Amino acid sequence: MTTTISHAEDLNLHHIVKQQYDRAVPFADDLDGWRGIAQWLFEPDRIIEVTMPVRLDDGYVHIFRGYRVLHSTVRGPGKGGIRFHPEAGADEVKALATWMSWKCALVDVPFGGAKGGVVCDPHALSNGEKERITRRFTTALGDTIGPFTDIPAPDLYTDSQTMAWIYDTYTMMHPGQATLPVVTGKPVELGGVAARSGATAQGVFYVTEHFLQIGGIPGLEKLDGANVVVQGFGNAGRHAARIFRQAGANVIGVSDSKGGTVDLSGLDVTAIEHHKDEAGTVSTYPDGETVEPGAILEVPCDILVPAALENQITTANAERIDARLIVEAANGPITPEADIVLSQRGIKVLPDILANAGGVVVSYFEWAQNIENQRWEDNDVLEKLRRRMRRATEVVVTKRAGMLDGLDSYRSRWGRAVGHEQPIQLPDLRTAAQTVAIGRCRDAALQRGVWP
Ligand code: GLU
Repeated sequence: MTTTISHAEDLNLHHIVKQQYDRAVPFADDLDGWRGIAQWLFEPDRIIEVTMPVRLDDGYVHIFRGYRVLHSTVRGPGKGGIRFHPEAGADEVKALATWMSWKCALVDVPFGGAKGGVVCDPHALSNGEKERITRRFTTALGDTIGPFTDIPAPDLYTDSQTMAWIYDTYTMMHPGQATLPVVTGKPVELGGVAARSGATAQGVFYVTEHFLQIGGIPGLEKLDGANVVVQGFGNAGRHAARIFRQAGANVIGVSDSKGGTVDLSGLDVTAIEHHKDEAGTVSTYPDGETVEPGAILEVPCDILVPAALENQITTANAERIDARLIVEAANGPITPEADIVLSQRGIKVLPDILANAGGVVVSYFEWAQNIENQRWEDNDVLEKLRRRMRRATEVVVTKRAGMLDGLDSYRSRWGRAVGHEQPIQLPDLRTAAQTVAIGRCRDAALQRGVWP
């Protein structure tokens, strides 16, 4: 059955997060206990917007806008990255902070959700300019961030160097205090964890591997020999392409913002990494067929890994996706309406809050080590990550099975709760993951109580 959607799709990320939430709430048990908690859990606790003057290399003062949203602290202090991007805005950052709350709850790290963004074009900035923006932003955030209040990390176009500047600035503002855990994703020399830079992709891999092993895609039990396409060649995409290849997958397509390269018999990922470093793009790689940026998503494959930006698979292209499994390394690459189309076409999706949670898990390990002044072995970090990602995968798969089995009772209970018959969406893995996460946040909120 195909769905024809004639209206323009709403691509506002905060509206999208709300639609996902509304799909999950009817499946969260104990509806009587909610009594307004559902709305509270959705609204961000705090939204900070700052205006920052920064002198750029041209000698002029330029004005930059920065955001930090703390979505929920019911399960612990805020946690989430800071991105530098021209389209960073209040609604986007709110949405990303909300996903962080669900992500932390789902993989059971003791944090709430937060996110930050600075509106800028990172490609047009020198290193010195980025440093001044970062230090000014850290100063503007002041004591709203801190080791036990809100702990930033890298996100789009920020990295371990950015985190080192945040740490240094914050430390200058708090002399004599142990401030190492104020930020994660730091360089190894500054209390960082070697595995952090590849952690998101490593988590994507563990989740995918385990999902296949437990029979998530009948007929595709392992990655060895599977055809994989990766959209995006930033931190997550690049590491994912390499890790999947090392596991024996045939990486048949990769891309970045300029375009993609495809070879149905399998690409040499190491050679592409060299090419990207030299040419600045994978799209001109000589031993593959060059494709337009959007076309990479439509290359027929077993596993598609969107590892770029939000809203990449929409009703405009969902019908043309030719994969058996989509694993969301990026946050929010699929719209709610596209989710319905994919689900009707039998394409499974391992959702972002599960698939890309490896980054925040290893951030948590870094934070815990910093607090204890310890250094764990790299292998221990990876083994702990692996166990946590596998456990979360099983929880989601089991939850979805239970939701499908109990569909009629969920439907009638929800109908009673809202006072009238209400259709509820057939649950996919995203709704199952959200239901687990929201349920954990709800339990924490109800156990703590509402103060005063
Ligand atoms: N920015 C990453 C994410 O979206 C990591 C956040 C963190 O490590 O705190 O999950």
